[in-house]
Amino acid sequence: MQTKFIFVTGGVMSGLGKGVVSSSISKLLQLSNQKVSCVKIDPYLNYDAGTMNPIAHGEVFVTEDGGECDMDMGNYERFLNQNIPKSHNITTAQIYSSVIDAERKGEYLGACVQIIPHVTDEIKNRIRIIAEEESLDILIVECGGTVGDIESLPFLEALRQIRVEEGSENVIFVHVTLAPSLDVVGEQKTKPTQHSVQELRRIGIQPDVLCVRCSSTLQEKTRKKISMFTNVTEKDVFSCHDVQSIFMVPQILFEQGLVDLIFKKFSKVGYVDASENWDKWNNIVNSMESSGDPINIAMVGKYVTLADSYVSVNHALKHAGASINRPVKIDWIDSETLNGNIETLKKYNGILVPGGFGTRGSEGIIETANFARERNIPYLGICFGFQLAAVSFARNVCNLTDSNSTEIENETKNPIIDLLPEQDNVTDLGGSLRLGANQIEIQENSMAHKIYNSNIISKRHRHRYEFNKKYLESFDKNGMIFSGESDDGRRMEVLEIPSHKFFLGVQFHPEFNSRPGFPEESFKAFISAAGTN
Ligand code: GLN
Repeated sequence: MQTKFIFVTGGVMSGLGKGVVSSSISKLLQLSNQKVSCVKIDPYLNYDAGTMNPIAHGEVFVTEDGGECDMDMGNYERFLNQNIPKSHNITTAQIYSSVIDAERKGEYLGACVQIIPHVTDEIKNRIRIIAEEESLDILIVECGGTVGDIESLPFLEALRQIRVEEGSENVIFVHVTLAPSLDVVGEQKTKPTQHSVQELRRIGIQPDVLCVRCSSTLQEKTRKKISMFTNVTEKDVFSCHDVQSIFMVPQILFEQGLVDLIFKKFSKVGYVDASENWDKWNNIVNSMESSGDPINIAMVGKYVTLADSYVSVNHALKHAGASINRPVKIDWIDSETLNGNIETLKKYNGILVPGGFGTRGSEGIIETANFARERNIPYLGICFGFQLAAVSFARNVCNLTDSNSTEIENETKNPIIDLLPEQDNVTDLGGSLRLGANQIEIQENSMAHKIYNSNIISKRHRHRYEFNKKYLESFDKNGMIFSGESDDGRRMEVLEIPSHKFFLGVQFHPEFNSRPGFPEESFKAFISAAGTN
């Protein structure tokens, strides 16, 4: 069996939703009983997304196998309800370091090492290895960036070569563009699409399909004009108009005949009755449009200026709300602005503190955790939110003044949160945190046990600091218990206050495991508690 490839490129400008289109295409095909997966190419020179600022680039998504990846990987996982390994996020840095390593080992046997063929071969190899090792029917590869960028050229060249080598009957190029409407009459403009397709054709790629982003349905005359200028048949120009939820995009592409087109092009024989799959999926999508009373959540953190910085947390909250038919309204609050304003938090049904790094804004978070505890407001602290909830408890309940995390105050008298012992000699920032899925033992008769209904869970991590066990007894005596641990009790993973309505902190990142229709348990419990507040 030969894997077929769908390559998704983007034109005009970034932020058009290539990731959503790629995820939607893969979902359509999965619903049509195809074994699919997605790859994201990021043409930047960072080895991975781990060192990038979430305010500029969006969340760093962590995979089961510990990859710090582009947030599109999270979209793939949520759409497909399937884990995606880190090898599916390919960057320029990974490609060049493999090529340079091979050159230093003399593997090119005296050849002059060049972008074509050595870099392009490395790109093609990685894509083919994924297709083969995972025995996929169809692999969707999304090329990040905008066509015309210098950075993405070697990748586009490699994809072009794959089409020649695999045969055009095995490869489809989908190009995502924009048809803006500038005037009040709403005339859709085609020029940006014309130019970006020209740019693509200049480098030897004729797209088979165009997904045109527009605010309302693509008009017939726009479709005709785009088709004429881009050499793409009219019926292969798809309208990707704005919809209420990204999870509706598979449906609108399906209705316009995208599955038929792909099956025909790939000569996939046999009619697939996927109606049952579609019914299940549509039920999930519809459930996300919950109509009940909104649950108001304050999300207090550091990277609140860009909604994408915590995209998985936002999704996880919505999945949880959908499960009890309640929409979740999230207000992002910059912890730095809370000084003297902490009372503003009292109007919320629940308070969530997500992950974070560094000193800035940490005092506001510590105060937030204390406020939630004192006022009996449901609190969910994730990673940094777990750590600073412990600091706040130490300071305010255990009477351990001068408590802190050594990440914030290296010389603190009471290092409640301290560096992981194995991190002592780590100097590189990139790829050096405790990453990926680890097993956690859950204490019986705890709230965590009620939530997970299991003695063992496996969750993804991304941290360098942890709770200092020296303080365990003092916490226990004062009413905060640690109900989850890992590595044979060496690390504390879950904290809770049994006397509180709902006060839970987790050292791991539950948001990465939440999927539409399958909310992550701690989010579900938090939202249920907030919903009755
Ligand atoms: N900065 C903390 C640590 O490194 C928490 C990390 C996080 O929230 N992802 O341990």
